[in-house]
Amino acid sequence: MPAGIAVIRVSGEKTKLVLHELFRGKKDPVRNPRLLCFGEVIDFKNGTPIDRGLAVFMPGPWSFTGEDVAEVQFHGSPLLVQKVLRSIYAFGISPAEPGEFTKRAFLNGKMDLAQAEAIADLINAKSDEALRLAGEQLKGRFSQAVTQIGEPLRDLLAEVEANIDFPEEDIKPEGVEDLLNRVTHATRQVERLLSTYSFGQVVKEGVRVLLCGRPNAGKSSLLNTLLGKNRAIVSTISGTTRDLIEEEAIISGYKFVFCDSAGIRDTDDEVEKMGVELAKDRIGWADIVLCIVDSTEQKSDWHNLVKYLRPKAKKIWMVTNKVDLNPQAFSQFQCDFTLCEQCFYISAKTRDGVDALTQALVDDVARAMPDKAEAGEVITNERQRDCLERANAALVQVAFGLKSKSPLEIVSADLRSALQALDEIVGKTYTEDILGRVFGKFCIGK
Ligand code: GDP
Repeated sequence: MPAGIAVIRVSGEKTKLVLHELFRGKKDPVRNPRLLCFGEVIDFKNGTPIDRGLAVFMPGPWSFTGEDVAEVQFHGSPLLVQKVLRSIYAFGISPAEPGEFTKRAFLNGKMDLAQAEAIADLINAKSDEALRLAGEQLKGRFSQAVTQIGEPLRDLLAEVEANIDFPEEDIKPEGVEDLLNRVTHATRQVERLLSTYSFGQVVKEGVRVLLCGRPNAGKSSLLNTLLGKNRAIVSTISGTTRDLIEEEAIISGYKFVFCDSAGIRDTDDEVEKMGVELAKDRIGWADIVLCIVDSTEQKSDWHNLVKYLRPKAKKIWMVTNKVDLNPQAFSQFQCDFTLCEQCFYISAKTRDGVDALTQALVDDVARAMPDKAEAGEVITNERQRDCLERANAALVQVAFGLKSKSPLEIVSADLRSALQALDEIVGKTYTEDILGRVFGKFCIGK
């Protein structure tokens, strides 16, 4: 695709050589590290200039990857890019795999694995809060928190292993008590981090809001009002939304995924039936189910609908709609707080009450923000969660072993498992498989 500017980045041993052959300027970038130099981009095949551009050289180890790195900028013509790349490949340089620059930065000790993951999160961030969280994690605060859990456990391991070497000296009861206290402290910290997972997911993936209700209650109208655009078809004919419509919106810095569903009712129409089934499947998917009730329906059976939703839904908020047509709605549709967490009276048409609803949605996420989320101490991916789960399970075993006076070899093996799981989070220990999973999610060129 044509672009204003193309940037080609090279990292590794041959960087200087490539710059010499590819770029000719008044100032030599290699002799002027970290200075953006103006000059000509050269076609390696015949030594002729093909464009004018800028080049910068960043010597290792003070570069992003820790190796010699060069960046050459020129006009973003796909043809030019191809020519320059062909010249570069002629030096035996291979194209970067997804995330390869960051992988090298990790392998060269420029950052740990959780920070590398934060880079991917930063690039893919869809909301202000996701951006902020990734930024904090990139600074290493989350990694620090994980390391701080591990350090006392390492001391503990040394003590336990010292006792294995001197089996004749049993650990005294008060000694066991002290060890147990320290294990419990570490377990609590691991649990605290684990409990941040749902917030991390919500920030990254968005709060999932399902709009449910009888046909014609105004679900599509509300979706359009919430999104500020006409995404869903609004019509007076019942059963028009047969598919699930999913739309993302950023509200006050948080990402929301709204899903408009087919109105839930018994129907003979096969297509609509499928839509209704899809809607039912989505109830458990949602973080919040908005149960839209038409306040002009005199014989509304909204109680039955909410009772149906209740066992499957995490949170149900009742949204009484069309209050512009029924000024008595507030008294006629009184909220039953045994069935719903919150109630709203709105008009999707006039927007009356809609701001209160969106504010409540925002407040709901903000309220779920864990203690140290400001500092980025939030887990944001399944890999980190899995490591913490394993650390937690191993620590439970350690405590059990100490209490039941298991052989210290077993206690120490469990402690090692816990430490290994914590080390995996920051990449102190890793396998090719782990690296493949982490960096495979990156885009090319990062
Ligand atoms: P859905 O089947 O639940 O998605 O309902 P729609 O959003 O398609 O709305 C059904 C009908 O009710 C349409 O004619 C809308 O214009 C109308 N409607 C929806 N919300 C309101 C509202 O708040 N006030 C009024 N007066 N009409 C509304």
